[in-house]
Amino acid sequence: MKVHGKDLVPRDFELTPEKVARSLSAFLKVDLPLNLEDLEKRGKEASSLAPPVPPTLCPACPHRNTFYAIRKAATPRSIFPSDIGCYTLGYFPPLKTVDTTVDMGASISIAHGISIAGKGEGRYVVATIGDSTFFHTGLPALANAVSNGSDFILVILDNGTTAMTGHQPNPGSPEGMRGKRISIEEVAKSMGADYVEVVDPYDIKALENALKNALSMRGVRVIVARRDCALKVVSEKRRKGESWDIYRVDESKCTGCKVCINAYGCPAIRWDREKKKAYIDEEMCWGCGGCAQVCPYDAIEVKK
Ligand code: SF4
Ligand code: SF4
Repeated sequence: MKVHGKDLVPRDFELTPEKVARSLSAFLKVDLPLNLEDLEKRGKEASSLAPPVPPTLCPACPHRNTFYAIRKAATPRSIFPSDIGCYTLGYFPPLKTVDTTVDMGASISIAHGISIAGKGEGRYVVATIGDSTFFHTGLPALANAVSNGSDFILVILDNGTTAMTGHQPNPGSPEGMRGKRISIEEVAKSMGADYVEVVDPYDIKALENALKNALSMRGVRVIVARRDCALKVVSEKRRKGESWDIYRVDESKCTGCKVCINAYGCPAIRWDREKKKAYIDEEMCWGCGGCAQVCPYDAIEVKK
């Protein structure tokens, strides 16, 4: 049997329907009943008309709070190795808390490598990894880091599921896979991590304090940022016909400082160019209250 791959499928960039059609046509050695040039041209035209929407974490995503807290706690020149999951979106502005993504588990091994190579004065290494990736390939890397006396902070983004691929359970999910749940913090402790703490990322101040505390220590310090995936929570609420809080901006208090947009970046928060004030798109707000915690002027509140 002959196996084909990159000889027929392009190596780079997104796999558009036209590229897949071309690859299939070459593989099957048939002319597809499609005008591929025309399809490609129309696809390019359509994408040039659409407004550019940068990729971003969901509204109410707990990872946004975690990245925001890391940015607040660590020095600007700190290094943020990360991993593969929906949290890789932390790479994009305004969060910019993902410096490397190589392969699953590499957040920890790269953090360990930097801790050996030297990170430089006034720089911290704060790695992030999702719960399912941690169980997948983070465990050997953590064992290696602890047993080699490494020095970095590892934040495990525990949303209780494998969100990026469709909410499959992982060994740390509340219900486990098919048997028992395995506790991430107990695993980290039993591996000999020098500091282990569990924090709810919906409490941004508490997370920032835990990070500052961990930054003042040495060794492998693990913080488990635990809060269920917002998409899963909202989907379940929708299915059950339940509602959730919606937040609003009090125009009389909003100074237009844009912290909620330029530093935090929930996609439900928009900018009114005429009024020069922020406002919240109610259709997109999933009621986490994160924006209310970051607004320096207490201008965001639950809509009554
Ligand atoms: S952070 Fe608060 S004051 Fe600043 S723009 Fe947003 S809502 Fe307005
Ligand atoms: S409460 Fe604020 S941060 Fe949370 S989803 Fe609504 S607009 Fe976004």
